[in-house]
Amino acid sequence: MSPQTPRVRFAPSPTGYLHVGGARTALFNWLYARNTQGVLILRIEDTDVARSSDEMVKAILDGLAWLGITHDEGPFFQSSYRAEHVAKARAIEKAGRAYGCFCAPEALEQRKREAEARGLAWKYDRVCEGLSPSEADRRREAGEPGCLRFRVPEGVTKYPDLVHGETSFNNAEIEDLVLLRTDGTPTYNLSCVSDDIDMRVTHVIRGDDHISNTPKQILLYEALGATPPLFGHLPLILGDDKKRLSKRHGAVSVMEYEKAGYLPEALFNFLALLGWSPGNDREILTKPEMTAAFSFSGVGGKSAVFDHDKLTWMNAEYLKKKTGEELFGLVRESFSQAGLWQEAFDGGRRAWFVGLLELLKDRSRLVTEFARDARPFLTEEFDYDPAAASKHFSVAQAADRLLALSEELAKTEPFDQTTCETALRGLATRLGVKAGELIHPARVALTGRMVSPGIFAVMTTMGRDCVRARLNRAARFIGEQTT
Ligand code: GLU
Repeated sequence: MSPQTPRVRFAPSPTGYLHVGGARTALFNWLYARNTQGVLILRIEDTDVARSSDEMVKAILDGLAWLGITHDEGPFFQSSYRAEHVAKARAIEKAGRAYGCFCAPEALEQRKREAEARGLAWKYDRVCEGLSPSEADRRREAGEPGCLRFRVPEGVTKYPDLVHGETSFNNAEIEDLVLLRTDGTPTYNLSCVSDDIDMRVTHVIRGDDHISNTPKQILLYEALGATPPLFGHLPLILGDDKKRLSKRHGAVSVMEYEKAGYLPEALFNFLALLGWSPGNDREILTKPEMTAAFSFSGVGGKSAVFDHDKLTWMNAEYLKKKTGEELFGLVRESFSQAGLWQEAFDGGRRAWFVGLLELLKDRSRLVTEFARDARPFLTEEFDYDPAAASKHFSVAQAADRLLALSEELAKTEPFDQTTCETALRGLATRLGVKAGELIHPARVALTGRMVSPGIFAVMTTMGRDCVRARLNRAARFIGEQTT
């Protein structure tokens, strides 16, 4: 491996499920690593013991696996490197760049309130800055509770953000940050920098919410004599109402999208375009295409809106590309949940069932819609869409026409699309009605809905007996409505 090999990391805190924001960060790291033949490290930032859990670690790993975001190293658990974090904090202190601070929380709170009362923005007022390391050691050894603070130097901290370009912060606005808390535990900024140095991370790609941490982290690199990595901050994801995406906007954990019937490749494609444009208005791209096209020059700095309708459209496009056999594996769960799975689908009726999925796929937007649309093919227990029924079943003679069609189809030989069509059109002519006046009520009778795949394909997939049973059932239903 050459020394230039890019090394990126995805560093989630296991305090919640993998949500779409985190998944998008992971995905951009993945795209960058794959585009540059680099290395993607997975680091679980589990130092907040009270809020982290094994269940969430598993949920994050499951979410990444579902999306096909593979890592090359790890998962590493940040809590295992505590000794390294503390050692680096002590090295910074030894170099005179950090100091012990023994201000009690109540005293700090009091001074903060006073500053705010005078209309001043509060940042730690450096009361303890003058303490020498030996004095700090003495007080620590005497059992006095104290933390370790980094002394932010004067000046300006600049870095070239891969997304936002040259970015600079006036150090005067940065508080002397805590490196080790009073209980000795390392803080996020220290642990993050320590691990990124030890894991030889070259590019830190993460959400915009971390921009304010970046100058602090760069200052820590400098204090440790290490070269900072390059930083790229991805724009915020907003809901349809232009507010930051949150639970209020519906599903945010990626696995909820699986439950709702989305394909991982559709969500992957959709998330990749949240902030990145591959150019030429391309929207549907395979993973290899995205990998080849990815570059930070295509990542915009403006917030990206999570447009559910677009995701659903994309999902439908991906479903259309699936073969019946591929769909077979995908729909099993939702058919089982709907009580529609038959053992024979794994045996003698498999080819028929695969054909049914092929028939339904062009109109399906979600994996879960197959079970809904397949129901009339599998059971009589389905409802008619009220709008469809009121439009097409309320016509006088609707029931008689459906019964006549049923009789006609009893005689149709062989029972294929052409013969079914000839039979229906012949009947329409004899009844003196347009073909549509038979087709529309028949569609509602057979599928319960106003729209469906081609009616003759529906008939041949259902089979003669089922078609006749559905037509007769609809005629009975109409009769019950009118008596
Ligand atoms: N654990 C942090 C988070 O989940 C990671 C921050 C970073 O990437 O540096 O927000």
